[in-house]
Amino acid sequence: MFELFENELNNLNAILDQVKNNSLDFLEKIVDRPTYIADQSIVPGDLPEAGIGALGSLDFFKKHYEKLMVASPGPRYWGFVTGGATPAAIAGDWLTAVYDQNTQSTQGAGDVSAIVEKETMRLLYQLLHLPDHFEGGFVTGATMSNFTGLAVARQWAGALSGRDVAREGAVGDVAVLAATPHSSVLKSLAMLGIGSNQVVQIGTMPGREAMDLADFEQKLTENQGRPIIVNCSAGTVNTVDFDDIAAIAALKQRYRFWLHIDAAFGGFAACSSAYCHLLNGWEHADSITIDCHKWMNVPYDSAVALVRKEHNRLQVSAFQNSNAPYLGDPSENFSYLNFLPENSRRFRALPAWFSLTAYGRKGFEWIVENSIACAQALGNYIETSAHFELAAPVRLNVVCFRLKKDTEKMPLFLKELNRRGKVFMTPTSLSGEPALRAAFVNYRTGKQDILIAIREMEEVMSAL
Ligand SMILES: *Cc1c(COP(=O)(O)O)cnc(C)c1O
Repeated sequence: MFELFENELNNLNAILDQVKNNSLDFLEKIVDRPTYIADQSIVPGDLPEAGIGALGSLDFFKKHYEKLMVASPGPRYWGFVTGGATPAAIAGDWLTAVYDQNTQSTQGAGDVSAIVEKETMRLLYQLLHLPDHFEGGFVTGATMSNFTGLAVARQWAGALSGRDVAREGAVGDVAVLAATPHSSVLKSLAMLGIGSNQVVQIGTMPGREAMDLADFEQKLTENQGRPIIVNCSAGTVNTVDFDDIAAIAALKQRYRFWLHIDAAFGGFAACSSAYCHLLNGWEHADSITIDCHKWMNVPYDSAVALVRKEHNRLQVSAFQNSNAPYLGDPSENFSYLNFLPENSRRFRALPAWFSLTAYGRKGFEWIVENSIACAQALGNYIETSAHFELAAPVRLNVVCFRLKKDTEKMPLFLKELNRRGKVFMTPTSLSGEPALRAAFVNYRTGKQDILIAIREMEEVMSAL
């Protein structure tokens, strides 16, 4: 063996020890780490002829790059929808790299980690009160999950007119009905060749992001004769509004459509007995998107794509990897290779399995309800504040707000707030008006963090 690798392997104990110490150092100080780094410059290096080894690289990284790592897994990173990583999830993720399985077949020769992936899905269904009439598996994020669900929908749409889109290409005319689709749904439609212009915009209820059901039914009627895909939002990113899933699903009795639910983070409302009603009826979906790297607090790249088992054959025609036409029952000789976009697959289920096993139903109920309580606390402050006002009621775990006066100063306010590095938020647009968002997803966030944020917001306002 090349001497460098021999040394590395002999040194593994020291390497992993250093990585552990480094990790502890980062995680123990995460509460005080800045959520924003002003100086983002790095000195570009050249590829070394002779490498400096793992410990040398770790030293170099610590010296030059670690300072660029913001506290995005910390308690006050409220931009986008940013989850953290629980200890069990970190353990699972670390071991994923160690085990380094290529997770594909449940009956394959060699690697059978897909059996654990299937088991993880079963635990997840139990957590989310979903029946196991779905076939589910892990993908990199909710974007790929939306892509997967919509790819099977596309296959279904083609099949309605006897076309096998996966083989013949060109999906043809499809109507995609949606009220407030996430940008990644539009991106998925673009990637799938359906085209994001195929979205038939459904009106929303007054002051809401959720579908107006009368308009929805009207558009269902108008688009009869075209294959219809309905994209339901189970948690919009701005106001965490939910389409009325039960009412929409009930219309499947009278109209033919594919029901896709984007429940990227909102799906975890199912963990809370107080909020699980928001997902009533979601078991009737044809496909569901759920992110794990958001509210489940596992590290990035982790989401699941769920498609009803009755669509197994469509799913296999969409994602089949072999040249031979698929014969037999897809549930036998099951391989994720033929069900999901990727071929080689990381053992992504492991961090989720660790989390589900480590924290159970109660743990996730606590995470979800704690996030909601944090959002409510910030919302209560904003409602009584002289400087700010809510742009929408706090429906779940996101606070969407504005400056009360001098709204043109909002970008400046946000820039200054973020620059101070104690709390991070992101801008958005709600009903065409600019607004600010604070999303509560991280299990570490508590009342003390809300107090810090309020102090920061007040100080920035008084200096504005
Ligand atoms: C975050 C999000 C997505 C996209 O998820 P990624 O994990 O970033 O790919 C899709 N839909 C909703 C509702 C989201 O919140």
